[in-house]
Parts: sequence; C-alpha cells; structure tokens
Amino acid sequence: MSTLPDPVRVWFHPDQLRFKPRYEWAFGERIDHPETTARAESILEALRDAPGFELSSPDPVEDGELRRLHAPGLLRLYESTRALDRDLYPTVFPKGEMVRADPDNLNHAGYWCFDAGTPLNAETWVAAAWSASAAASAASGILSGDRLAYSLSRPPGHHATRSRFGGYCYLNNAAVAASRLRRHGRVVVLDIDYHHGNGTQSLFYRDDRVLTVSIHGDPRVDFPYFAGFAEERGKGRGEGFNINLPLPIGVDGQEYQRVLRDVVAKQIAAFDPWAIVVAAGLDTYELDPVGKFTLKTDDLRRVGETIGSWGLPVVAVQEGGYHAPHLGLNARALLEGLRTGQASRTAAAK
Ligand SMILES: [Zn+2]
Repeated sequence: MSTLPDPVRVWFHPDQLRFKPRYEWAFGERIDHPETTARAESILEALRDAPGFELSSPDPVEDGELRRLHAPGLLRLYESTRALDRDLYPTVFPKGEMVRADPDNLNHAGYWCFDAGTPLNAETWVAAAWSASAAASAASGILSGDRLAYSLSRPPGHHATRSRFGGYCYLNNAAVAASRLRRHGRVVVLDIDYHHGNGTQSLFYRDDRVLTVSIHGDPRVDFPYFAGFAEERGKGRGEGFNINLPLPIGVDGQEYQRVLRDVVAKQIAAFDPWAIVVAAGLDTYELDPVGKFTLKTDDLRRVGETIGSWGLPVVAVQEGGYHAPHLGLNARALLEGLRTGQASRTAAAK
C-alpha cells in the first residue's frame, strides 16, 4: 500500500498583508517599493490549491521570545509606530557621540535603523509580528515531527539585527525559527537570498550552536555593502561558525549548484546539525529587478533538491524575491525540490 507524504504546511496570517510600503529612497531617488503585498499574494496563489501544500494559521509569538533576539528599545519603537498617521522614513542616523535615543519619540527612529528603504507606519508592527510568528510556528511544526515546513514570511527578516531594522526587514524571522530549533541541538541557517544575511549573521556571530552560511552577491557592489565578506568568520565561541560565500554578478544555476554541492554541503556535514533553516530569498532569479544572478525556476527547484538530499528537517523562511508575477512559481519550485530531495534521501536509506 502506498501512502502520500504529509502535506507541507504553509504558515501565513492575512494581517501580514496590512503593511503596504509605497516607496523607498535609493541613492537619492524615490522609487516604488519592491516589497509589495503582491509578492505574498503570488505565493499564496501558487500554493493555495497546489497538491501537497496546506495553508496554516500561526500562533502569535510571545514578546519574551522576541526580546531574546531583539533589543527592548527596538520593540518599544515598533509599539510607538502604531500611532503613526503617515509613512515614516528615518533620515537622521546618529553615530558615535550622538547616542541619546528615546523609543517613544519617533523623531529618534533613525537610531534603530540603518537605511532609507525601510519605512514605518501604523501597520508595520502587526505585519512584522505575524511574519515572525509564522516562522516560529513553522519551527514548532518541525519540533512536532514535520520534515519540511514553509513560513510565508513577509515582511522579510534576514537584514534585521538585534537593535536595527533595514533592508525591508523589521524582525529576524529566520533567527526566530533557528532559536526555537537551537534548544534541541545544533542548527544551520543557510541563507540563499541574493543579499547577504547580515542580521542573521550578527545575531549568531558568537554562537557555536548555530552555523550561519550565506551565499550572496558581492557586498562590494550590492546591499548590505558593509557585511558579507569571506573573512567574517564569527567571534569568540562562534569563531569558525559563520561562512560567507560572496559570488560575482551574473552567477547562473550551474555555478550556484557547484557552490552548494562542493562547498556548503561539506561544511554542513562537518557541523552535523539536526535541522536546517533556509532563509529562502528568491531574488537570485534571472528576472528579479533587484538581484543580479541568473537562476531559472528549474535551477531553484534543483537548489531545493540538493538541500533536501542532505537528509535534515527543513524550515524554509521566505526572504526576498521581487519579481512578483513569478514569485509563487519559484517558491513552489523550491519547496517541491526540497520535498523531492528529502524523499530521495529517505528512499535511498531504506
Ligand atoms: Zn534579497
């Protein structure tokens, strides 16, 4: 008798769609904001009726759990933003001796922010909190025996540090998932977004139980510019447990696979984790308006197959990916690839 595998749960809350950033400032230009609600809608459309997927509503993540990752001042600032009647773009970013910061004063928002692309308004906090909650619930699914779970996290999270938001990210969703899994053993966060996961790196930089690996566009030419270099390897106990693999512009699916199979697979096997969080940015796609790699949909499927074949439970947490019309197809391809990879591993072990 053959049995179908359990459906992959897709964790998402409709209030994540309440936040609608309209524009951002990029090198002095006002441009349409790429992190639109159309992104999540594209993914929902692709997965809602697809065989093997099941939409699930997350439980709200507790404040205390967020406080273990993020500074109280940052979370207090988000509370303050609920009173906003407009979009707020911090424009003063204090450094050095300018250190007085009051999270109840929105004129001070720039203290907790590192760029001009990440606005705040009255809906930011509710959407970001549900986005983090989705990642937390996906991790809990793995703790209860799921082999693969997907958090449709939006807004994304991998650029958010302990005390600063930026890069369209407010709470570090992948780190929330990794922290839940970390209590049960060593965990890898593999960031496949086009951009370096500076926030995730910084949150686990001194941690030897979370190996952070990021494959991304060269930070000399792309966001976040100030982090993502190969020589950043962790500090203290965490020394050697952060791996950055910056790649040149134009990398294709074949080269990407080579890095995954020849470099990343070996590092992860040596670390011997019990689970993996994939910070699943899809802005490596050839048509992405922000990223500059040239992966096709089938390449993203193969990325999933390779990661799935490592035989670990996987929480995939959505990060970037800005070609909204194809984002759902690409998310589905990656997830189906992960499931196929995991199934081939199980079959081989029998
Ligand atoms: Zn990105």
